[in-house]
Amino acid sequence: MKFTKKSGHLYMSLQAMHLIPLFVLGIVITLVCYRTTASAMHKQVAEELQNMTDALALTYDLLYPGDYHLEGTEALELYKGDVPITFDYSIIDRLKADTSIELTLFYEDTRILTTIRDESGNRIIGSSASVLVTKDVLADGHSHFYTNTTIFNQRYFSYYAPLVNSDGTIVGMLYAGRPCSDVNKAVFNAVFPAILATLGCVLIVILISSSYVHKITSSLQKIRTFLSKVSTGNLGVELDPAVLRRGDEISDMGYSAIYMQSSLRTLVEQDTLTEINNRRFADKHLRQTQAHADLYGSSFVIAIGDIDFFKSVNDTYGHECGDLVLKKVAYILKRHMTGKGFVARWGGEEFLFVYDNIHLEEARKQTEALLAEIHELEVSYEEQPIRVTMTFGLAEGEVGTRIKDLLQKADSRLYYGKEHGRDQVVV
Ligand code: GH3
Ligand code: MG
Ligand code: MG
Repeated sequence: MKFTKKSGHLYMSLQAMHLIPLFVLGIVITLVCYRTTASAMHKQVAEELQNMTDALALTYDLLYPGDYHLEGTEALELYKGDVPITFDYSIIDRLKADTSIELTLFYEDTRILTTIRDESGNRIIGSSASVLVTKDVLADGHSHFYTNTTIFNQRYFSYYAPLVNSDGTIVGMLYAGRPCSDVNKAVFNAVFPAILATLGCVLIVILISSSYVHKITSSLQKIRTFLSKVSTGNLGVELDPAVLRRGDEISDMGYSAIYMQSSLRTLVEQDTLTEINNRRFADKHLRQTQAHADLYGSSFVIAIGDIDFFKSVNDTYGHECGDLVLKKVAYILKRHMTGKGFVARWGGEEFLFVYDNIHLEEARKQTEALLAEIHELEVSYEEQPIRVTMTFGLAEGEVGTRIKDLLQKADSRLYYGKEHGRDQVVV
C-alpha cells in the first residue's frame, strides 16, 4: 500500500491556524490604538481651541474695556470700547506666533480680524462664515467644535464661540482653529511607536509559533518517512534520535514506530523456535557480506553445521525433546558467534555461520572450539542425559566469490564429514 502524498497540508493548516488570528489581532490592536489616540487628541485639540477663544476674548476685554460696536459714517469701523480694532492684528498675530493656532474675530458673520490667509498671502478679511456656523453659533448662541470645516480650501479643526457684549447681545464670533493635516500628523506621530511595538510583538509571536509548528511537522514528517521505509521492507532504517528526545506525544509515536519496526523485524528475520536469525535473514546477510568483501577486499568464512543423528533424538525421546535440544544448541551457537560474526538456523537441525574478516585456518580453530563447547552440552530430558555432536563444513569467501558456489563447497565438505565419521570440522 502506498501513502497518499499530501505533504505540507498539516504544516499549512497549522500555520494558517495561528497566523490568521495573530494577523487579525495585529490589525485590530492597530485600529483600536489609532482610534483611541485620535479621539483623545481630538478632545485635547477641542479643549485647546476653546481655551484659545476664551483667552482671546479676555485679552480684548482687559486691554480695551467696553462693548464691541461699529462707528463711522461711510467706512464703518469696529470698536472695542473707545478703541478702533479693525486693522489691529497685533494681538491675534502674537497669539498665533506662540501657539500656531489660527484666530479670527467675526463681527456678526463677517471676518474682521484673522490670521488666515489666502493663496496670495492676503488675510481673508471681509469673507463670511458658513451657513451652518452662522446658525449654530450666531443664531443659537452656543459654542461649537467642528472636526472638519473647510476655510479657503483648507480643512480645519475649528472652535467657534459667540462674541457677547455686556448687555448679553451676540455681536459676532471668535474662532480658533488648527489645520487637520497638523492634527492628523500629531496623531500619527503619537500612535506610530505603539503600532510599531504591537507589530513587533505580533511578529515575534508569529516567528516563535512558526518555528514550533515547523518542529512539530518536521518530526511528524520524519516519523512518516520512517514508517514509509519500514512498510517497503527496509527494517534497518533508523529514526532521527531528535524526534525521540522531544519527550511529548510525538516522541511516544516515534517509540511506537520503533517498537513496531522491531516486532516486524523479529517476525521477518527471526526463527520462532530457537530465536536466532532465520534463513531469510541469512540469505540477506550472505549477500551483504559478499558485497562488503567485493568492495573492501576482505575475506570471510562460512560454515554449515548439522546436528548428528538428530532424527534418533526425535525417535527416542519425542519431538518435544528434539525442540529442546535445538534451542539449547542454538543458544550455544549464538553465544559463540557473538563478536565473531553471524549465525542463523539454515533449516531443520542445520545452522549457517559467517565469520567476518578471517581466513580458513583461523575459522577452523574457532569452529573446533565451538564443537568442544557442544560436547560439553548435556541436555537432560525426563532425567535422561542427551549428548550432542555436530559436523561442520567450511568454505572461505573473498572478492568475487559466488555465494551459491560457497554454499555448495561448504555443503559438500559437511557431507564428506558425515560420510567420514561425523563429529568433526571439515575444511
Ligand atoms: P545426520 O547425522 O546424517 O544429519 O542424521 P540426522 O538424523 O540428523 O539427519 P536426518 O536428515 O535424517 O534427520 C533430521 C531430522 O531433524 C528429521 C526431522 O524430523 C528433524 N527435525 C527437523 N526440524 C525439526 C524441528 O524443528 N524440531 C524437531 N524436533 N525435529 C526437527
Ligand atoms: Mg543431522
Ligand atoms: Mg540435516
